[in-house]
Amino acid sequence: MKANYRLGAVGGFEIFLHWTFSTMMVGLFGYYLITHGSVFVAIQALTFIAAVFGSVILHELGHAFMARRFGIPTLDITMYPIGGVARLERMPTEPRQELLIAVAGPAVNIAIGIGLLMLGTMSGWTLSNGFLAQNSGLIENVMKANFFLAVFNLIPAFPMDGGRVLRALLAMKMRYKSATTVASFVGQGIAGLFFLFGLAQLNIVLMFIGMFVFVGARQEALVVSQTHT
Ligand SMILES: [Zn+2]
Repeated sequence: MKANYRLGAVGGFEIFLHWTFSTMMVGLFGYYLITHGSVFVAIQALTFIAAVFGSVILHELGHAFMARRFGIPTLDITMYPIGGVARLERMPTEPRQELLIAVAGPAVNIAIGIGLLMLGTMSGWTLSNGFLAQNSGLIENVMKANFFLAVFNLIPAFPMDGGRVLRALLAMKMRYKSATTVASFVGQGIAGLFFLFGLAQLNIVLMFIGMFVFVGARQEALVVSQTHT
């Protein structure tokens, strides 16, 4: 925990920036400064990234507050360069609780997205300005990022929230362990498609996501097979 920077606490939930996250922000600032030769551009770019990660923190808080409703404490929320993690003290055993906790995160992003869309529309900002163009461009991009976060997280594959949603829905009909096996299988299939699609398009990011999801989907099945009978 030492290398992690404590950002603050919201509603009693401790929020940390992992040291790799802080390093990434400094690195990105340097990158924009060098490639654009402008402190202003670098600050604008970092503002966008900070706004997106702020949205991710709110997403994690959505999980944490919903878990608290079911009496499950959250140990902490930590931000990594690839996203945030709310560490729950334990996983809910009731499928309905897991479903609501999983959905709470993406629901926050949808709410933020709709809020920003209304803000942009009401204030008459054109939503076509490019990234870094002006403030309306920033709002538009943060709005899009939030809708993307909601959709991406709802992909029905572990370790995404959508994987938990799928498992919870299945667990209402079958045993928890079987539900996990099926959800893990679906997740690995989706991960495989991501990877193949990425390979066909020579898209490294998609291929990386595919591998990341594949490992996560397998791991969830392993953990559950060890802890559940
Ligand atoms: Zn989430």
